[in-house]
Amino acid sequence: MKIGIIGAGQLGRMLALAGYPLGLRFVFVDADEDAPGAQVGRIIHGRFDDPAALAALAASVDVVTFDVENVPQAAAAAVAAKVPFYPPPEALGAGQDRCDEKRLFRSLGIPTAPFEPVDSQQALVAAAERIGLPAILKTRRLGYDGRGQKRLETPADLDGAFAALGGVPAILEGFVRFERELSLIGVRGLDGRTAFWPLAENVHVDGILRQSRAPWEDARLQSQAERHVGALLDRFDYVGVLTVEFFLADGTLLANEMAPRVHNSGHWTIEGAVTSQFENHVRAILGLPLGSTAPTGHAAMVNFIGRLPALAEALEIDGAHFHDYGKTARPHRKLGHCTVVRATQAERDAALESLLALT
Ligand code: AMP
Repeated sequence: MKIGIIGAGQLGRMLALAGYPLGLRFVFVDADEDAPGAQVGRIIHGRFDDPAALAALAASVDVVTFDVENVPQAAAAAVAAKVPFYPPPEALGAGQDRCDEKRLFRSLGIPTAPFEPVDSQQALVAAAERIGLPAILKTRRLGYDGRGQKRLETPADLDGAFAALGGVPAILEGFVRFERELSLIGVRGLDGRTAFWPLAENVHVDGILRQSRAPWEDARLQSQAERHVGALLDRFDYVGVLTVEFFLADGTLLANEMAPRVHNSGHWTIEGAVTSQFENHVRAILGLPLGSTAPTGHAAMVNFIGRLPALAEALEIDGAHFHDYGKTARPHRKLGHCTVVRATQAERDAALESLLALT
């Protein structure tokens, strides 16, 4: 069986690495011939909406998936008309506009921060009056890893803020004073069966994920999160892995955003769960039985952003699992990560300190 992946970033690369032991082969579409996927599969050169590249992909594989969220929904639908395509294009589209995404959460009874669409400076001022400050102004589309957003603390910060973000359709969100950030990753098979990994606790710095620890053990929050992610999976008749990032505030989970794909906050599952998010995504889209999502211990994952540590130094840490995505170093770029799994939380947290010392 051959799987086509639109996007050959580190997520696509890790999907392929999970699929090879199962006897699967992979083909990617990417504009960058040096993308991380190039080391583990053939790349069809083209942008994510290039009709010729996508047609060539559809013609050479059994099923198509994606590792990036900015595949236009129409391009995805065109591929889906030719070959099985999972997750569904509709779910892909739903996550591309922050406003529609939050309306979807609310329609399913999933709480969010207060928000309002903002299409002008005037609308921004009016929305800020209703929502209050501090607040965060974000572009509705194409923002990620903290890009395309601006924190507004005082009324003076509103001046020119709409134009500073590019004058594009935006959303103003109330600033959540969260206790922590948690994410839940779920998977739904072709037969409608679902499975969920344990919650992960995530720390972001400047909008970019820095570290995750899992399992975050809280039975009440776990079932709250599973209810929310389960509602989204059912809403789309979803197939594959879906991630939702939450803020925990006053004992309640507020959904911040969803990603219709494997996610950085689930990298710990490669070594820290019986079946990784990558393998279960591959199993789901091929109609294979899903594997157990049970944790194998207490895991910590640290991202290497902008700079990779020396390999020998990282491997000094007992049980360190090092992942180098093979990318050229650039500031703010995710270049790799490292995971440790320990028998107890205390041992895990000690090992996490060693990982953080590498960054
Ligand atoms: P996002 O691009 O929406 O994932 O935001 C990146 C990070 O910025 C989040 O993980 C939070 O750490 C922070 N952030 C985003 N939105 C809010 C908010 N409404 N309130 C507080 N922090 C936020």
